[in-house]
Amino acid sequence: MSIQNPNFYRLLLLIDQDYAEQTRAQRCRCGGVLHSARYPRKPRGISHDARCHCDFRYSFCCADCRCRTTPFSVRFLGRRVYTAAIMIVVSATRASAGTAVAMRQLDALGVPRSTIARWQHWWTTGFVGTPFWSLGRAAFVPPVEIAQVPASLLERFATTQPAEPLPCLLRWLSPLTSGSAVSILREGR
Ligand SMILES: [Zn+2]
Repeated sequence: MSIQNPNFYRLLLLIDQDYAEQTRAQRCRCGGVLHSARYPRKPRGISHDARCHCDFRYSFCCADCRCRTTPFSVRFLGRRVYTAAIMIVVSATRASAGTAVAMRQLDALGVPRSTIARWQHWWTTGFVGTPFWSLGRAAFVPPVEIAQVPASLLERFATTQPAEPLPCLLRWLSPLTSGSAVSILREGR
């Protein structure tokens, strides 16, 4: 399964590295220079070999005003203890009642049922209530079925990006992973 594959996380780390370099180049909102101030992370559910690609989140601290700037990420969706990829694949497979093999693979990840239920609640209420979704949903014609998110989103990306739907969906969702970016979306810029 790709969400257990170290190479998959190596690819995601490279994308996050790109986001981090762009953020640093743009500097702080006050114009100050950004210094690295990474958050250590220990995500659950990933293989031992993949862990070294997911053990920190890029973040910066301004040399002048000390404000934090945290770039977009395809590895982490908020402060959840699982990677964004696991959260999406587990939520999508549960919602779509996948094959017995898929279900066994999910069980092997050891995500508690209460966590899966919380994620599913978030997708159908929290996520669809974000300014990001209000703007982003317009990109899908015909509209994505809200009750089936994220499975319905993953299906759309599988149609347009058959080679790698999951990284594409993660990229698409990445503005959600930075608080400052969501406020920019809210202001309509
Ligand atoms: Zn600053």
